[in-house]
Amino acid sequence: MSTIEKDSVVELHYTVKDHDGETLESSRENGTLHYLHGHNNLIPGLENALVGRKAGDTFIVDIVADEAYGQRDETMVHTVDIESFAHIEDLSVGMRLQGQTDQGVVAFMVTDITDGKVTVDANHPLAGMDLKFDVDVVSVRDASAEEIEHGHVHGPGGHHH
Ligand code: ZN
Repeated sequence: MSTIEKDSVVELHYTVKDHDGETLESSRENGTLHYLHGHNNLIPGLENALVGRKAGDTFIVDIVADEAYGQRDETMVHTVDIESFAHIEDLSVGMRLQGQTDQGVVAFMVTDITDGKVTVDANHPLAGMDLKFDVDVVSVRDASAEEIEHGHVHGPGGHHH
């Protein structure tokens, strides 16, 4: 039975919780995650914890922020005039938007709206957080040469192109 190593295609279920045990996200609602191992498709701490696992393995791993989504960067928080968002209907705190910047398209979240000013935060929502992953490895197979070349999975759960 194949074990997870560089260029394995892995199918898994995961639930990620914060350090208080509150569930933040789970694949169990949307179907399994498929990824190509060893190509920076997952956070480093989770890829490291998956090395050598095989289908049917289940495990729980604690991952510190530096091995997850990194530390928060306060320079990625900006306050702008609400007029900049005049084209957005029902602008509200918690809304996720995308904007064009010098660095390309950036995803950010509205974190505050006060006195005609809007605060937006482009940090990953899980940045700065220590996380706990609960993982079920569903299947493991070798990647095709084309998948390795593209750096992602093709077929079910992957790219179709
Ligand atoms: Zn491809």
